[in-house]
Amino acid sequence: MSTSMDPDSVGGDFADGGVLTTDFFVAWFDDIAKQVRLQRERLTALDAAIGDADHGTNLDRGFTEVGKALTDSPPTSPGQALLSAGTTLIRRVGGASGPLYGSAFRAMGKAVEEPVTLAGFAAAFDAGVVAVEQLGKAVPGDKTMVDALVPASRTLALAVRDGVGVREAFELTARAAEEGARATIPLRARKGRASYLGERSIGHEDPGAASSALIVASLATVAAVGS
Ligand code: ADP
Ligand code: MG
Repeated sequence: MSTSMDPDSVGGDFADGGVLTTDFFVAWFDDIAKQVRLQRERLTALDAAIGDADHGTNLDRGFTEVGKALTDSPPTSPGQALLSAGTTLIRRVGGASGPLYGSAFRAMGKAVEEPVTLAGFAAAFDAGVVAVEQLGKAVPGDKTMVDALVPASRTLALAVRDGVGVREAFELTARAAEEGARATIPLRARKGRASYLGERSIGHEDPGAASSALIVASLATVAAVGS
């Protein structure tokens, strides 16, 4: 009758003793699709200010397709879920963000080992961030999704080092991504379409950093289920 008080057990439906199950990853993509749909106009408005006004629609289409792929061919492992999502995003989302997010999830899928502990997830997440950095050649401060993803990965690694439970670790990670995204506002873009604007890119949040914060926030949301 007691709800679990074990800080390492994540959302009863999705995890077993702190291990992130295939269902956890499917629920993560489900929540991302939901949040992207809800925030589609905001993401597109951010992209309208410094890009070509397609980021929200790009991601809405992409993550809707991810949901369909995961329903049509239910994954039997976390790695499969991540690879399927990544491949779908690469195939179905044009622009910069499709290949970047697609490569990130594919790299995570290749890196992840079962059973997926928080430490294992953190290592895989970092492999995903490294894939974005290698493909896009952006570094922190260039005003891209890297500005949200790098602090998120660092924060998650520190949480693992400190032995923080899964839920709290994902909450801290989500906060770091959100702060990283907001910190892109005063930056001048040095990569992607926004860089064509030069000085005029200053004063706007980077759309990709905003969507990365949303993707990381979904981790915390899904981990909190059942708590
Ligand atoms: P596009 O710019 O091709 O229209 P999107 O609008 O879907 O694609 O995505 C734009 C986002 O992609 C930017 O806000 C930025 O965060 C990210 N981005 C663009 N170029 C790069 C890059 N070289 N490295 C990392 N992220 C990038
Ligand atoms: Mg765009």
